[in-house]
Amino acid sequence: MTNPSILILPGDGIGPEVMTEVEKIIAWFGEARDLKFNVETDLVGGAAYDKHGTPLADSTLEKAMNADAVLLGAVGGPAYDDLDFSVKPERGLLKLRKEMDLFSNLRPAQCFDALADFSSLKRDVVAGLDIMIVRELTSGIYFGEPRGIIKEGNERVGINTQRYTESEIERVARSAFELARRRGNKVCSMEKANVMESGILWREVVTEVHAKDYADVELSHMYADAGAMQLCRYPKQFDVIVTDNLFGDILSDAAAMLTGSLGMLPSASLGAPMENGRPKALYEPVHGSAPDITGQGKANPIACILSFAMALRYSFDEGAEADRLEAAVETVLANGARTADLIGEEGVEPLSTSAMGDAILAA
Ligand code: ATP
Ligand code: MG
Repeated sequence: MTNPSILILPGDGIGPEVMTEVEKIIAWFGEARDLKFNVETDLVGGAAYDKHGTPLADSTLEKAMNADAVLLGAVGGPAYDDLDFSVKPERGLLKLRKEMDLFSNLRPAQCFDALADFSSLKRDVVAGLDIMIVRELTSGIYFGEPRGIIKEGNERVGINTQRYTESEIERVARSAFELARRRGNKVCSMEKANVMESGILWREVVTEVHAKDYADVELSHMYADAGAMQLCRYPKQFDVIVTDNLFGDILSDAAAMLTGSLGMLPSASLGAPMENGRPKALYEPVHGSAPDITGQGKANPIACILSFAMALRYSFDEGAEADRLEAAVETVLANGARTADLIGEEGVEPLSTSAMGDAILAA
């Protein structure tokens, strides 16, 4: 049997810096755990624009479509701010998501015990938190037609349309229920069925899918505004939250900050199963290209490393190996290792990006 394939797209800014640490870890799995991958690396974002004049070359897209998993660092940066909209680095990532039809965006919000006190960074976190937000990623108000800015009488009108088909709701609901079965077996679905037709349909379809195939999973519904309130008040009541593109965008950022640092947060975007049964998948840290710290060896590689742990779990069915990698991160943090973003005014000497990667490897 051939080894599963991974396409690595380091991208821009700190993307290549954090991805270097992931590459070390992938190599380690091959040697120490006999878990071998065929790894290929290519350009995306500004790096691709510099070479090809486009943020996503057709050849790269084709590789992504055929890979068992794609790992992406980050795209964008001030050097590309003045580019035409159609070739901006971010368009490369959006095109990738769109072409791969990655409809289910998994955003964990998990607080590591060793980072339960962030008071030196003037930040409150929720110790022991471990929830997952599933955001619909390819439809809803960010894509619905009609859209645009039109003239109506004497004034301009900005228009966006929230639109969801049954099948779009059903597939993301299924992915949330499947996920819940591997976690706390609980799903809370959020919409605004009190004021939006798309919300009414969302609630109906989620309820139908649940009754038909996932009755063993505990299901509840909340209006998204009440859900936002509950997420602040008592976030540990949740296990998996499933919601649409717009609400998911906001709720997942809010949930992320309950855990402390942007440098710690992974994500997965999943699509339909391929012929080999694996979902089309893209894994990336939540953070961006961080131009303010690029090239200084300061970037925290943990978000990117935990994104690879998600790949082990969701693309390669290697849950035990994902646990192993996450445990190594936990151990290193418990031993006091910190990159600069995790340090307040305590005067602890920060680790560089590569020193943090090495410490995780050693653990
Ligand atoms: P994007 O628009 O690409 O999402 P952004 O404007 O949200 O980018 P980031 O690039 O994520 O911003 O950076 C936000 C802040 O967090 C910056 O000060 C950056 O240095 C810091 N930061 C982001 N990622 C990391 C990381 N991995 N390690 C350390 N600091 C980080
Ligand atoms: Mg951002």
